Amino acid sequence: MNRILFIDDEEEILKSYKRIFEKKSASSDLMELASGFFDEEDQGSVDTSEMTFDVSVANQGLDGVELVKTGVDEKMPYRVAFIDMRMPPGINGLETAKKIREIDPKIEIVIVTAYSDISFKDIALELGAPDKLLYLKKPFDAQEIKQFANNLVVKHKNELIKDDFISNVSHELKTPLSSIIGFHSLLEGASELSEDSKEYLGYIGHSARLMNSLISELLLTLEFQKSELNLNRVSCQADLFFERCYKLLEPLAASKKDITYNYHCSDEAREKIIEIDELRIEQCFNNLVNNAFKFTKEGEINVSLSCADGTLILEVADTGLGIAEDKIQTIFEKFSRVEDKHHEVEGLGLGLSIVKTIMDKHEAKLHVESELTKGSKFQLKFTI
Ligand code: ADP
Repeated sequence: MNRILFIDDEEEILKSYKRIFEKKSASSDLMELASGFFDEEDQGSVDTSEMTFDVSVANQGLDGVELVKTGVDEKMPYRVAFIDMRMPPGINGLETAKKIREIDPKIEIVIVTAYSDISFKDIALELGAPDKLLYLKKPFDAQEIKQFANNLVVKHKNELIKDDFISNVSHELKTPLSSIIGFHSLLEGASELSEDSKEYLGYIGHSARLMNSLISELLLTLEFQKSELNLNRVSCQADLFFERCYKLLEPLAASKKDITYNYHCSDEAREKIIEIDELRIEQCFNNLVNNAFKFTKEGEINVSLSCADGTLILEVADTGLGIAEDKIQTIFEKFSRVEDKHHEVEGLGLGLSIVKTIMDKHEAKLHVESELTKGSKFQLKFTI
């Protein structure tokens, strides 16, 4: 069902929206309505044979939020929400959109406003997920609003289909892969294996584990998209925690003969307490260190913990390929990979977007410095 929601404090505008999307509304109706509330120019002809919509309206932000919540709870979510910016006396459009996003991260949002008191850039920064956000200035015409609704509904549907497809395929692959990994371990332990068999078994193990971690990244990314990431924060002594993370990856370092893997904690950083979700931050650590190993042929990978300006900084520095300055901004986006020698290394381009999602949720900073052919430094910064 194509459920769309309009939130606007003016009753007359809400009525117009409803009539525009009524199944049987004729183009003459639209013309008449549009001339009442929206821009009169360029009405053109509205194709009434297009898809049908189930329209809900709310005249205050919190009522709209409630409708979205009910939709999600009843498994009949809205595909698109059109939200007016100014809605006195209640919360404004931006606050409404934030609450709606928390409940349903997949919903398409259109911010509608007659004023330019806040720019699209600022709204996108506050709200996040700019790929699911549009900005529509009043006055607009009826056809415009229908086109927005049509296209966003189709986009929303396609994304759900794509996510379901990836999720189903990934889950289906997990089971046979687990048995490959299990039987591989058993075979590895078997005696009387020729040197050739050991070598081939090594390749099988490597590929199976790689596939497993790619599938896990895909599933995690879908999970983050589907629902708000809830942190299970605990107080933790950072130096002990990160040293443990570091040690758990020593076996990876052991297989890289030309790289030294080091850990250092400054005196100042000792015994500092941070409030984190340990599982998630360990995941960030693993992604950064795995990348450092992936993109470094020889030299050093230095993990360090230090303090500066009221923050505790976990740094992973490598002497690897580095990243060109104009590519640095893109590497945190989903499926983004640098087109260079980097492509010789396996990956889906999801690891850093996962790190970013987790760090944002911790309200902690993620910083990167890199120089092509010299190496990269990634920092996780926690307020202490
Ligand atoms: P993946 O490693 O699976 O490609 P990521 O999201 O972890 O995905 O990283 C995105 C891209 O950023 C990588 O493909 C690579 O081009 C670049 N990158 C990440 N970490 C490093 C690093 N330590 N050194 C050089 N390039 C890196």
